[in-house]
Amino acid sequence: MHNINTHNLGYPRIGEQRELKKATEAYWKGNLSLAELEATGRHLRKTNWLKQKQAGIDLIPVNDFTFYDQTLDLSCLLGNIPPRFEWPGGDTTLDTLFTIARGTQPASTHACESCTPTASVSTFASEMTKWFDTNYHYIVPEFHPNTQFQISSRKIFDEFAEAQALGINAKPVLIGPITYLTLGKSQEAGFDPFDLLDSLVSTYEQIIKRLSATGAEWIQLDEPIFALDLTPTQLDDLQDAYRRLASVRGQTKLLVTSYFGPLRENLPHFHALPVQALHFDLVRGGEDLPDILTSFPTDKILSLGVVDGRNIWKNDCEQSLSQLHDALKTVGPDRLWIAPSCSLQHSPVTLNNEPNLDAELKNWLAFADQKLEEVVDLRDLLTGSGSNEKLVANRAATQTRRTSPRIHNPSVKTRLAEVTPADFDRTSPFPKRQQLQHTKLKLPQFPTTTIGSFPQTAEVRSARARWKKGQLSDTDYENFLKAETARCIAFQDEIGIDMPVHGEFERNDMVEYFGEQLEGFAFTSNGWVQSYGSRYVKPPVIFGDVSRPKPMTTEWSSYAQTLTDRPMKGMLTGPVTILQWSFVRNDQPRSTTAHQIALAIRDEVLDLEHIGIAAIQIDEPAIREGLPLRRNDWKAYLDWAVKAFRLSAAGVKNDTQIHTHMCYSEFNDIIAAIAGLDADVITIETSRSNMELLDAFVDFQYPNEIGPGVYDIHSPRVPTVAEMENLMHKAEALIPRRNLWVNPDCGLKTRGWDEVKTSLIHMVQAAKNLRQSI
Ligand code: GLN
Ligand code: ZN
Repeated sequence: MHNINTHNLGYPRIGEQRELKKATEAYWKGNLSLAELEATGRHLRKTNWLKQKQAGIDLIPVNDFTFYDQTLDLSCLLGNIPPRFEWPGGDTTLDTLFTIARGTQPASTHACESCTPTASVSTFASEMTKWFDTNYHYIVPEFHPNTQFQISSRKIFDEFAEAQALGINAKPVLIGPITYLTLGKSQEAGFDPFDLLDSLVSTYEQIIKRLSATGAEWIQLDEPIFALDLTPTQLDDLQDAYRRLASVRGQTKLLVTSYFGPLRENLPHFHALPVQALHFDLVRGGEDLPDILTSFPTDKILSLGVVDGRNIWKNDCEQSLSQLHDALKTVGPDRLWIAPSCSLQHSPVTLNNEPNLDAELKNWLAFADQKLEEVVDLRDLLTGSGSNEKLVANRAATQTRRTSPRIHNPSVKTRLAEVTPADFDRTSPFPKRQQLQHTKLKLPQFPTTTIGSFPQTAEVRSARARWKKGQLSDTDYENFLKAETARCIAFQDEIGIDMPVHGEFERNDMVEYFGEQLEGFAFTSNGWVQSYGSRYVKPPVIFGDVSRPKPMTTEWSSYAQTLTDRPMKGMLTGPVTILQWSFVRNDQPRSTTAHQIALAIRDEVLDLEHIGIAAIQIDEPAIREGLPLRRNDWKAYLDWAVKAFRLSAAGVKNDTQIHTHMCYSEFNDIIAAIAGLDADVITIETSRSNMELLDAFVDFQYPNEIGPGVYDIHSPRVPTVAEMENLMHKAEALIPRRNLWVNPDCGLKTRGWDEVKTSLIHMVQAAKNLRQSI
């Protein structure tokens, strides 16, 4: 018995040493020719295919490589180029791709970790948004009533030929038509992109025919929308589209994949697709397995994604084997395939370049290359040809993770178990607190503040880099940071910011800075994953129970407070955001980890209060992005997320003011949860929406204080006093004056000092004018 196939849905394209980023950025700067860039692409593809082949993967994806984004590649393949780019037709080029992604003028330079990267309006780049609930961003396809599709790129065909020439058993991969339409955006009010379905499917038919003619045995079509709430129309469209695709496939067989969540009520529709193989994500959709097996069609191949493509933990072989055994019993070896749960583009490339992770921790991890080995090992173990030693070793690794004192800290567990309902609540309700805070803080109406960071200049970054390399002593680095902080506070004092901040010069990143000081976190050297285009992130790994060995920010805050008489705002990152931007342990619910982090932050909040900091901001820009894919699951998530925030904040006295910040303002769906945070002040991003997005707060009669951003920090433009005053007048029409703050949209770390200075001077003037107005 050895018929069970292994395959892969997609492999990280970035290269072990981020070769793709380096080459792409060099090309953009004019330091690398197009031919050289293309050669880098070819080299990466070849390396990646051969790696997969050597690992023993039977069917290897092609067209998962991209110089920017696979959704954008597909738009180019389909000739769906937004009209404003005045594309002359014919074959799209790499420059077509980059232009759509980046616009024709330099893209916005603001890119903090949390703001959804959007190009500034003037560049007219296409919009970017999160790929389902991952941290990968795709370029949103644009649809017009007169959008026409026609094959306009040779990429998928060329790459298929390239792989064939290398003797790779290649499987071309494409996003499926229904997912493509669902993820795109209508550019005209009242126009439904699904009106384009007929012509879209015709073009897919041609693509399939062409791939089939060149010998593709399998084509993979990704339809992750099966993990979403679907309408009856979408479900019908899926059947119609695939009926048509099936009718032109010739000798080629079609594999449709779902991933990122259970299919639940969509399962019968998935089973009914007239294709030859179906893929399921058992890591996130394991609850479906009994139903999948009970009714799995007898004419199809069952592909099971048992190895987690989105997290970094070693597979629990025994658990996977038990799922695979059940499946094997139902479908037999000829109809069972084994794979990672989803594309491995969401995993770092390899554990082999991690000299700083110790052996024990490394033994708990698997990155993309190790995941491929796991897939093959599972197949071998299932068919009886595997080595028992591997199984024993895997069992041992799983076992030590269950019991290791590095992971399990009894005092953390006890403390969390002893949390009482009162720990989530402030002592008094908001109106009482507001009174006490106003008495203590003595701020004017329309108090001014900023969101925390000030420009992280080249000097700041270079000082940090030199310090990390040991070229700058601890003392010199600290003195440098102190000087920056002092200058920043002096500036705020001088222009009259009512609640200053220290500027966050000591922080590299709002999550990493805290993770480095908490127990239970580890940091990789090369664990990069693509966030969008040439921007990659290296998330911390939360491997164990989280605790705070000692205060993290009090020294900076107390130093800062000695420099001014005005009340300093302390600055922390919230538990949900720390969780959301890390690789999170999978051996306990995310909610438990979030609440452990919350307790650590709570201690920090109390220490800040203890040294006399009267206002503390707990940033939670990632609360909204943590929302589950299915509406039914929202409530459970929001419940624990809100509780995590409250646990971190609620220990303080009534007259200590808790702020929070979020980098967006679309709160309609979650306003009740936002109000549930019970932060005394929330600052949000509103300048570009003309305050319209305050409506959610107004409709909800949001009771606490709000700072609607008046200064668009995504752009180097300096806003005028009148503009900001106007925005605040709009806000004032909606929200009681005593509840309003005046502040920028977000942190200023990506801006230059010149613009920041003038903009903040204007902002303070706007607040002064507002105080005069009745
Ligand atoms: N305090 C952080 C800053 O100003 C907040 C950033 C964020 O929420 N993205 O940089
Ligand atoms: Zn922000």
